[in-house]
Amino acid sequence: MDLQTLPTDSLASFRDRIHGRYQEFRARGLTLNLARGKPSAEQLSLCQELLALPGKDDDLSAAGDDVRNYFGEAQGLCETRALFTGLLGAPIEQIILGDNSSLAIMHDVIVYALLFGLPNSPKPWSKEEQITFLCPAPGYDRHFGICEGFGIKMIPVPMTGSGPDLNVVEALAAEDPTIRGMWCVPRFSNPTGDVYAEETVERLAAMPTAAPDFTLFWDNAYSVHILTDDAPELANVLEAAERHGNPNRPFVFGSTSKITLAGAGIGMAASSPDNVTWLLRHMGRRSIGPDKVNQLRHARFLKDQDGLHALMKAHRKILAPKFERVHAMFSELLSGTGAATWSEPTGGYFISLDVMDGCAKRVVSLAKDAGIAVVPAGQTFPYSQDPRDRNIRIAPSFPVIAEVEQAAEGIALCTLLAASEKVLAERG
Ligand code: PLP
Repeated sequence: MDLQTLPTDSLASFRDRIHGRYQEFRARGLTLNLARGKPSAEQLSLCQELLALPGKDDDLSAAGDDVRNYFGEAQGLCETRALFTGLLGAPIEQIILGDNSSLAIMHDVIVYALLFGLPNSPKPWSKEEQITFLCPAPGYDRHFGICEGFGIKMIPVPMTGSGPDLNVVEALAAEDPTIRGMWCVPRFSNPTGDVYAEETVERLAAMPTAAPDFTLFWDNAYSVHILTDDAPELANVLEAAERHGNPNRPFVFGSTSKITLAGAGIGMAASSPDNVTWLLRHMGRRSIGPDKVNQLRHARFLKDQDGLHALMKAHRKILAPKFERVHAMFSELLSGTGAATWSEPTGGYFISLDVMDGCAKRVVSLAKDAGIAVVPAGQTFPYSQDPRDRNIRIAPSFPVIAEVEQAAEGIALCTLLAASEKVLAERG
């Protein structure tokens, strides 16, 4: 039943019926949170063993270094880097391990680029009149927050379902020398779940850019976070960029925040040999080195890449049913109404809900009144400006499954209420 084609009197009674259901929902007095993509307690418990590792008699790395002390290997323990060659698509020598947050490494790369310039920069970014980043949107609010904090101009680029619209990206990057960077979450984008197609990766790696130091901030936060058997693979951007003569273009980032412990994981970066040398030089001034005990702890716990993938399967068992419940509830209440569309991701942590244009703020505020927290409308866009006021990011990982289902029901009711109010208002 498409709301747009309902006769006005039927639409008004539909709106009243949904309003009644919404009031009943509100009266339940629930407190539900679908705002941040946090692992649930059940997921964190998969890694409980980490809290007791490496153990009181285990303090030597494979190279024989005492992890309790300061020592070389600023890049991180070899055995721990070896766990992530597949995840990052890079050899051990091109991987740098940091402390727990990959976002901190991305932030620092931008700070160093501003202060000193990247290997291919004519001068530090801060000495340029303007620095601009391309921002596939909807995207990750914290990426946009870094740019906003440093006064980096952001240009939103639409997503297509298999990555950003490359015709827009290529045209802008070729003509505008202020464009120095682009945020990419290439496998299971936050929040749309897009996996960049092979052709997208190739074109990003190969495209001519007006700036000599144009950089892909390739945030592969969810690269191994599969939810279904048909999740598409991602092409290797480092190899593609090297093949096309642009080896310094991508910086790949990742972390174990949603593999092991979000509060005590390992952040990491991989790039070309030049970029790795550049980053290590600047990181080496900032710190003697990150937490080596945590690196050894992770090596002991994950053991090898098979161990990592086995753990991801256990996460999937917990996560996939939550995503399925949201889809089932949205399908039951929203299908055919024209009130919303939503992504059905094959991995990652989010569902991207597009409500009727001009309704996202209203839906979020109705949800808040009914005890459901989601990120504020607009936050998935640069400057928190969703031009169509329609996108809402749903993060089903943290609550228990019964709560996920209730929250999805509540959000669907808010979506229907806002849409029917809007269509009625338009008819006057
Ligand atoms: N990148 C993306 C795309 C994310 O969604 C998140 C967390 O939600 C992060 C990075 C944060 O990662 P970390 O904990 O490694 O800083």
